[in-house]
Amino acid sequence: MTLSIDDAFLGQVGENIDRLITIDVMSYGVIGPLFEAARAVNGGTPLCLSAAARLIGRVKRGATVLLTTGFILPGHYPYGETDGPIGTAVLARALALGLGARVLVAVESELMSLNAALLRTAELQVISTEALAREAGQLRAVASVVELPREVQATRNRSATWMVEYGIEAVIAIEKPGANSLAVYHTVGGADISADVGKGQTLFEVARENGALTIGIGDRGNELGMGQIAATARALLPRGSACRCPCGRGVADETEADLTVCATVSNWGAYGIAACLAAMLEQPDLIQSPELEAALFETAVREGGVDGMTGRGSLSADGVALGVHVGIVHMLAEIYRGQSARNPSPFSTPLIRKGGSVPLTGR
Ligand SMILES: [Zn+2]
Repeated sequence: MTLSIDDAFLGQVGENIDRLITIDVMSYGVIGPLFEAARAVNGGTPLCLSAAARLIGRVKRGATVLLTTGFILPGHYPYGETDGPIGTAVLARALALGLGARVLVAVESELMSLNAALLRTAELQVISTEALAREAGQLRAVASVVELPREVQATRNRSATWMVEYGIEAVIAIEKPGANSLAVYHTVGGADISADVGKGQTLFEVARENGALTIGIGDRGNELGMGQIAATARALLPRGSACRCPCGRGVADETEADLTVCATVSNWGAYGIAACLAAMLEQPDLIQSPELEAALFETAVREGGVDGMTGRGSLSADGVALGVHVGIVHMLAEIYRGQSARNPSPFSTPLIRKGGSVPLTGR
């Protein structure tokens, strides 16, 4: 059974999840305005719940979802960060187990082994692209990892082939370098990294040309798929509208996407969507266990991932310690349980009931 997004209880679950994953634990002052802008574009409807509802509507059993991730900086982060690939593995797991989707993960060549290891830790079978093309998606949770080229034309050609060969219905970016309207990719600090990164903007363009759903998950505004909130990011970020490279256009991503999801740590946006899939499909195990969350961090660090804030191979992401990430997972599971509404006791007087008619309103 699938619950409707109009269900009052689900609306409250979506609201709580959005609030949880956007708490500004590091006090950067960025996530609040970005989130408010994204919610406004989305008509005030919870972002993670909207993403889950659109995915359920689009991705039928055996269809393919393409995920792209990884903030690679050769010389600095040769195997990328812990933020991005971990959320990708969590969302891949939820899409495969919840929707019977085949998962294709497109990353730069240096990031392929780290992402394959994370997918395996997340209980997926990592198989060849040939096997994935034949897979009906009925019996087992499967994923393949493919190379996202650094050249624009190669990305365009390969993306177009993927769309057809695998029947891709949705493309989701999780903490992936984005590009401005001049197709220049930047760090949030304003450096041009175009030569070093896969051409995610081209991938999104091809996806949209082929009618696939596109979703961007980010935490600063320079990540792929933040186009809906580009004006806010340009005004908010120190280098938002004035970078440190000759392009002069600024670091805010201006790539068009159907939905932009903002979270304090990009991984949390992916967790939030997975939790909303769990709530809509009534499959609580689509939320990763605390043990799995810890195992994913251990895998990422073992495979060379580092904390993007410190550059250290520590069990942390964006400067936030593992215990907090595990705490977020505990909170998501508790929100799913929605004890008063799902299992009302004689001592509770829930205002919101599952299947109820309380109108969903913005915050
Ligand atoms: Zn620039």
